[in-house]
Amino acid sequence: MSTSASSVESFVCVHKEACVMIYPDPELQTEVMNSQVRCKYYKEGCKWVDKLHNLQGHLDVCRYDSITCPNQCSDILSRLSIDDHLEFSCPKRIVICEFCNQEFPGEAFDLHVGNCQYEIVWCENKCGAKLERRYLNNHMRNECHKRTIKCPYCSKEFVYETLQTHQYQCPRYPVPCPNRCDPVKIPREEVDIHVQELCPSATVSCQFKYAGCTHKAARYSLDRHMGDNTKHHLQLMCDLVQKQQTQITQLCNALYSVTQVTDGTFVWKITDYKQKFIESIYKNTEIVSEPFYSTRFGYKMAASVFLNGNGSGEGKYLSVYIKILQGEYDNILDWPFLLPISFTIFDQNSDPEKRASITESFVPDPTWKHFQKPVKDVDQLGFGYPKFVSNEILKTRDYIKGDSIILRVKVDNSHSSFS
Ligand SMILES: [Zn+2]
Ligand SMILES: [Zn+2]
Ligand SMILES: [Zn+2]
Ligand SMILES: [Zn+2]
Ligand SMILES: [Zn+2]
Ligand SMILES: [Zn+2]
Ligand SMILES: [Zn+2]
Repeated sequence: MSTSASSVESFVCVHKEACVMIYPDPELQTEVMNSQVRCKYYKEGCKWVDKLHNLQGHLDVCRYDSITCPNQCSDILSRLSIDDHLEFSCPKRIVICEFCNQEFPGEAFDLHVGNCQYEIVWCENKCGAKLERRYLNNHMRNECHKRTIKCPYCSKEFVYETLQTHQYQCPRYPVPCPNRCDPVKIPREEVDIHVQELCPSATVSCQFKYAGCTHKAARYSLDRHMGDNTKHHLQLMCDLVQKQQTQITQLCNALYSVTQVTDGTFVWKITDYKQKFIESIYKNTEIVSEPFYSTRFGYKMAASVFLNGNGSGEGKYLSVYIKILQGEYDNILDWPFLLPISFTIFDQNSDPEKRASITESFVPDPTWKHFQKPVKDVDQLGFGYPKFVSNEILKTRDYIKGDSIILRVKVDNSHSSFS
């Protein structure tokens, strides 16, 4: 490498002695500049090959070289794509809308596309209509036969073209009363109720129909019928009440016969013991049970008690008695009554092992007047035990529990000729 002394002197590298200075070599430079090179964009596809000194000139026009957008949009693009950019995507390009013929900068046009009011579009309801976008709203809201619309009567939504058909079924569509009672129309779904309950022209039965009045007339004239027929209606009601009274009695009898005891074992719970006991101290009250039967078609009888005793037991004992009553089947039964009878007062201890219930029983003697065929329901004392159990014993154990005593009267049917 040849160098001139003057240029060495005038150029001192900051690195001084440590630095090896580089000097131009015109010959080598010429040689290098004449060497064949490819365009630096050969990988992108540029086929240019030429001398190195022509490279810069090529790069100024190379289609693959990057340049800034001539519209100053700040994009850097290859020359290759600049035409596309300028025409279609440069935000600073000027575009004319084909529908409205207005000029737009690129950015504004991108927003305008799809919104141009002069663009011809299909109706979104798919009715088949095509029209400028500016007419679309009005068309879809007011003209399109596929638009949805609320039924003015029931407020449900329908496609416009089916609304007509809907009105033949719409439950709220106003229709005239079938009796032509009033110029005002009624919602279809209320016609039945109107005719049944309100229509003044509907033919209705008199309110006393169930008592037997057969009168039928228009509802509006019913008041007059009622006014004119008070006596007649009252008579009908009177008859009806009597008929029902008979039925009630029959029902009561039937109910009684299915609920009363018919197997000779009568269990009798006497509640409110304390209060009834005090009452019997002062009044010596006899408490008589419901009647019951020894068998389904047997003897009718009832039990009775004196809580504070009676006769020889008065003041100290619980007395229990049995009374033979006049029954339905007395005429086919054996007399005198001779079946063994037992009375039991229960010990209500919750442990069955510990219970000590008290039982007394007897067999009636054929001579005793209490067991002859009863002539009528005379209020006479029954037969039994004036000293059944003493008040002292009754207070012990669980004979009285929950302020109640439980008595059982049992007819021994095993010897009966009719059971
Ligand atoms: Zn190139
Ligand atoms: Zn641009
Ligand atoms: Zn436009
Ligand atoms: Zn339409
Ligand atoms: Zn409707
Ligand atoms: Zn009507
Ligand atoms: Zn009537």
